[in-house]
Amino acid sequence: PGAAPFPAAAGGSETPLLLANLDTLADLDTLDPAEVDGVGLVRTEFVLTSAAEALSEERHLTVYRRLLDALAGKPVTLRMLDLGGDKALAGLNEGDPAGMLGLRGVRFLLAHPDLARIQARALIRAAAHGPVSVLLPMVTLPAELAAMAALFDEETARLARQGIEGRRPPLGIMVEVPAAALTLDLFGQAAFFSVGSNDLMQYLAAAARDNPAVAPLYAGAETAMFRLLDQICTAARVLGRPVSLCGDLAAEPAAAGRLRALGLHGLSVAPRRLPALRAALGTRLGATLPPAAPGAGSPDSAPGQA
Ligand code: PEP
Ligand code: MG
Repeated sequence: PGAAPFPAAAGGSETPLLLANLDTLADLDTLDPAEVDGVGLVRTEFVLTSAAEALSEERHLTVYRRLLDALAGKPVTLRMLDLGGDKALAGLNEGDPAGMLGLRGVRFLLAHPDLARIQARALIRAAAHGPVSVLLPMVTLPAELAAMAALFDEETARLARQGIEGRRPPLGIMVEVPAAALTLDLFGQAAFFSVGSNDLMQYLAAAARDNPAVAPLYAGAETAMFRLLDQICTAARVLGRPVSLCGDLAAEPAAAGRLRALGLHGLSVAPRRLPALRAALGTRLGATLPPAAPGAGSPDSAPGQA
């Protein structure tokens, strides 16, 4: 299961890759693919804008292929629908009273396997056209990853039986629930990790990410966050898996030095934040990287290789 979705950074192992977060297809207009090493996070719950779109395998596929075409061979990390919490698609998930602590992300997908299978099939089909990696949001326990991996295996086999082109993409997890962050050594089935600092900080501080009344507590959790990040990076290194960071913390120029010191494999930020991050890291353009090798990020490629 060990697969690296991204090639090593050109500047040496200590230089994180520069990756983009995309929330909409329109974000592509603000991104020069030559300026990044790939896409570290596509929030598909925003890219797909209605329940009808989310339930259409063909619509998913069209969107994913558009993203792959735009990135012209660079790796694209597609996160499965992170519905629940503060994110809703009308007709699919409104009004969970548990909010941020409820049926969110992979929990929602496992509770709605028909929806999960639609998205998985489109992701498998997209992966036949380019270097796709798949991120699972809000994972708490290894059993959730195992269940989604089984679902991907089943749909890969079903597509093959149906004579539809597909390729099983590597599966990684968002590290954004403290229980998962503290037990990362148990997630050897993950091909890669991506820290969601927005959620990890809110769950560490028990302070909602969008509530100004507790914003100082949220910000104050940065010390706890860096201690945990150190632990996460060590655990990922022992497992031989790349770990990136795709929350807003990655875009804070003041944090760039400390993030770099952690040995993170990549930092993923909104396109408009890329120039400041590149300046803070003093790093090269993504264009200096060799193009991703064919088969990059396949489940059978070795960790750390393209
Ligand atoms: C995060 O939690 O940091 C993250 C990147 O995901 P989102 O902001 O979509 O919850
Ligand atoms: Mg999150």
